[in-house]
Amino acid sequence: MEISKRLFGKTKDDLDVYAYTLKNNQGNCITFLNYGATVQSIVIKDTSGTDRDICLGYNTVSDYENNDGYLGACIGRVGNRIGKGQFILNGVSYQLALNDGENHLHGGIKGFDKHIFDVAISGDSITFSRLSPDSEENYPGNLKVAVSYTFDDDNQFILDYHAVSDQDTIINLTNHTYFNLSGENDGDITDHLLQLDAASLTANDKACLPTGEIWPVENSAFDFKRPKAIGKDINCNEPQLINAGGYDHNFVLDGQGMRQIAVVSSPKTGLAMEVYTDKPGVQFYSGNFLTGQTGKSGVPYVKRSGFCLETQYFPNAMACKDFPSPILRAGEEYHFTTVYKFKN
Ligand code: BGC
Repeated sequence: MEISKRLFGKTKDDLDVYAYTLKNNQGNCITFLNYGATVQSIVIKDTSGTDRDICLGYNTVSDYENNDGYLGACIGRVGNRIGKGQFILNGVSYQLALNDGENHLHGGIKGFDKHIFDVAISGDSITFSRLSPDSEENYPGNLKVAVSYTFDDDNQFILDYHAVSDQDTIINLTNHTYFNLSGENDGDITDHLLQLDAASLTANDKACLPTGEIWPVENSAFDFKRPKAIGKDINCNEPQLINAGGYDHNFVLDGQGMRQIAVVSSPKTGLAMEVYTDKPGVQFYSGNFLTGQTGKSGVPYVKRSGFCLETQYFPNAMACKDFPSPILRAGEEYHFTTVYKFKN
């Protein structure tokens, strides 16, 4: 494993942003930024030995600062939506920013995606950490967070999350990498085959906020139990898909503990990705709200240029009594792991 570091640029507040590249013994590389603990590129050799950068990203700090879409970022404190930005914990009501219509999204106005993290390198891992102070974005508790990224010689990208708070709080960290296994400049992921180990999903309202209902996927456009092209049913007459402009749903994962939950492959490059996690849910998002931002190789990232598989607690969980709880009690440890394994 080789690890290299270079200056990537400066934030508008004049803070240095560094890029760290982990290169494994197959010559495949992942590059991270201390800005947002962001995954900036993932370069994997395809079946013909050609390097393919399979994650959407930018070349400049200002592109990350000025565009939305959360490309590659660590999302916190709470990923996805919280209805009306409100929750009650220990009898106290909290009001978070409404940064997505009437709702709170991905940690608020200045979520983890827009912060500079501390960095520590050890072996084939790099750890990004920060202290999110009490009341940051109105969430309670001083929260110490660390996410370690490891890239091993079997092309496994391991994301290991730890957090501890000095007060009861809520948390749901995830990563927002958009993958395109044909290459980040290919423009379309609807030909990718997806298999997802989820027998049900959480239904959304019109604003993509889970209502609390859990629906079986069987005989619906959401059934990915067997490999199916992402585009096969994406434009069908299903109100849930019409509302979101495609898939933007939390799937209720089968089983518990660390397990394989998904496989995705590109028929063009033969590249595949397996996903493993110990989280209960995954947001399958088909890049519906990408608006043509120019990406790192000059190609616009239009609708469906990439897809995300964001492992998570179910969104809006404080308002939905049957969802696993995102409460982190004072002094307890939050820990979970996700693995993206690339195959050529
Ligand atoms: C959400 C989308 C949202 C996107 C922002 C995804 O995780 O599910 O609804 O638009 O993030 O880029």
